[in-house]
Amino acid sequence: MPKPPKLKLNCPTCKKTVLASNEDFPFCSDRCRRIDLGKWAMGVYKISSPVLDPEVLETSLEDLHGDNRER
Ligand SMILES: [Zn+2]
Repeated sequence: MPKPPKLKLNCPTCKKTVLASNEDFPFCSDRCRRIDLGKWAMGVYKISSPVLDPEVLETSLEDLHGDNRER
């Protein structure tokens, strides 16, 4: 059986090299993943909600930061 090639990418947030075996791949850490997801989510909210409720935005940011729950 041929071994699958080892994948390596640069963390989109901090540009550090990340191995595919990293549990947070393609991010180097959970922190970087949340930063990137946060940016992405903000962009989506801007597009899909012309009238942006600050309370909704605050709630979603809290969810990104304080999420240690298993799902
Ligand atoms: Zn990173």
